[in-house]
Amino acid sequence: MSTTAAAPTVADVMAELERRYPPGWAEQWDRVGLVLGEPSAPVRRVLCVVDVVPETVAEALTAGVDMIVAHHPLLLGGVSSVAPTTYKGRIVHQLIKADVALYVAHTNADVAAPGVSDALAARFGLTGLRPLHPPVPGSPAAGPGRGIGRIGQLPAPMTLAELTRHAAAVLPVTAWGVRAAGDPRRRVRTLAVSGGSGDGFLAAATAAGVDAYLTADLRHHPAGEHVAADGPALIDAAHWATERPWLDDLAAILREAPGVETLVSDLDTDPWTVHAAPPAADDKEPRL
Ligand SMILES: [Zn+2]
Repeated sequence: MSTTAAAPTVADVMAELERRYPPGWAEQWDRVGLVLGEPSAPVRRVLCVVDVVPETVAEALTAGVDMIVAHHPLLLGGVSSVAPTTYKGRIVHQLIKADVALYVAHTNADVAAPGVSDALAARFGLTGLRPLHPPVPGSPAAGPGRGIGRIGQLPAPMTLAELTRHAAAVLPVTAWGVRAAGDPRRRVRTLAVSGGSGDGFLAAATAAGVDAYLTADLRHHPAGEHVAADGPALIDAAHWATERPWLDDLAAILREAPGVETLVSDLDTDPWTVHAAPPAADDKEPRL
């Protein structure tokens, strides 16, 4: 802080975030850090979101925040225009005009300990946590407890069918809901979780010998092949629902900057908005 009386600046909030989530810990392909906004601008109110989309931008503008901290990068690929006639250009214009800074903590927050998947693991009360996919030794993110995803023990074993229902109860509600692959009667004690698209860590979950692996964006062939090869049962939740729990941790970090009011967006930004269960399938035991 420059003085105790002045409001913290965008740079102050960034420094607080980068102490927990150093940008150098992000994957090479990732784009994290300040996207737009003056580092010297004062910050009195911050909104934490998973996605920067028109709906969360509208929420930020209505709430009168000075800064958005987002998990997903707004601009990940090459950009040759931010014209307001484009989807993302419109967002850039809206934020700059309203003097709202935008900051992204993505894979650097995934790999941190505590990080995104710790908040997900906490929803299940997992204990004895270890990373599902630790960083390569010697890489910038390497360190104790760090890595993508977490493996831990459930407080009590439950069947896959019970755990799937439990997941639907403890995770933020989405239209997508929660679905699982594997024997519904399988007993699960050791659970791996990975916030976001965890398709790439199926082999790591199998190698770790976990009973089940909960993540998002699982696909037909990789999921089917891992289950058929006696891999862990798979639980597929909505992408947003697996990362929304971390926003509470993020807000707690931001509140440590004196004078900053922190808001958390509960707007479900998952693209899936409609879900239909087969008639009379609700509240029944899964078909065995
Ligand atoms: Zn994600």
